[in-house]
Amino acid sequence: MTSLETLLKEGTKVLEQQKIQEAGLDAWLLLEYVTGVSRAFYFAHSDDVIEEEKAEEYRNLIQKRAEHIPLQHITHQAYFMGFEFYVNENVLVPRQDTETLVEKALELLKGKKAPEILDMCTGSGCILLSLLALMQDACGVGADISPQALLVAEKNARNLEVDKRARLVESDLFSSPFFEEKTGKDQAWYDILISNPPYIRSADIEELMEEVRDHDPRLALDGHEDGLYFYRKIVSEGKVFLKKDGWMLFEIGYDQGQDVSELMVENGFQDVKVIKDLTGLDRVVLGRR
Ligand code: GLN
Repeated sequence: MTSLETLLKEGTKVLEQQKIQEAGLDAWLLLEYVTGVSRAFYFAHSDDVIEEEKAEEYRNLIQKRAEHIPLQHITHQAYFMGFEFYVNENVLVPRQDTETLVEKALELLKGKKAPEILDMCTGSGCILLSLLALMQDACGVGADISPQALLVAEKNARNLEVDKRARLVESDLFSSPFFEEKTGKDQAWYDILISNPPYIRSADIEELMEEVRDHDPRLALDGHEDGLYFYRKIVSEGKVFLKKDGWMLFEIGYDQGQDVSELMVENGFQDVKVIKDLTGLDRVVLGRR
């Protein structure tokens, strides 16, 4: 017979022993996930006994978290821009940092009728799909090299009921027929090209925390030798897909503001700017075609 409180303490202890950063919080979130019990209910009923089956399920999940599997991969839930996204091992877990990028896009698109969006390297779809959910007349394309990631994005598009306005395309950057048909014709389709591409220098990947290094897809992290591979490609090849005065905007690593701005200026973008996130670090670079 195990009470909620005993189980939570047990879970916290296991996670602490394995040096999980927010052991207490994660132990709680898994308890909430397994039992459906709210924080308020817990405080009033922490002595309630939990069915042995549920307790076992909880212990199994704690064990997974103890192996540094990210919490979101265990619960398959991640929250971004106030929406719930399904995630698994084939996509990068949506980061709060990336909300800065989405908020900037919303600002740039304010007042624009039926904006068209291209999200390159869409992953779980979190960027494109939250924009579509927040702008009811917008539509857009999310492209990704990984068919497994696109399955996740499709599921999220249905869950957020924006699937009719989202087209998800398998493409290694702009190389798929979907884009090739348009290249060169200067058929500029998009009001905004937004991207959070892989941007970690290959040599820095080993330094990342275990959750990210071993459980987020490498494909979603690795920005090749100098971390700038995808910015270079997207800036130079993506420009023709933007309408005149359309915006390109990227999430960047904290030390990439200058390099990515220079790339944009060299490619003829105007009003190039670096924007900081809530913690004061450079996080977004944008420019106008
Ligand atoms: N665009 C997705 C996100 O922001 C995936 C990014 C990536 O895979 N690098 O979560």
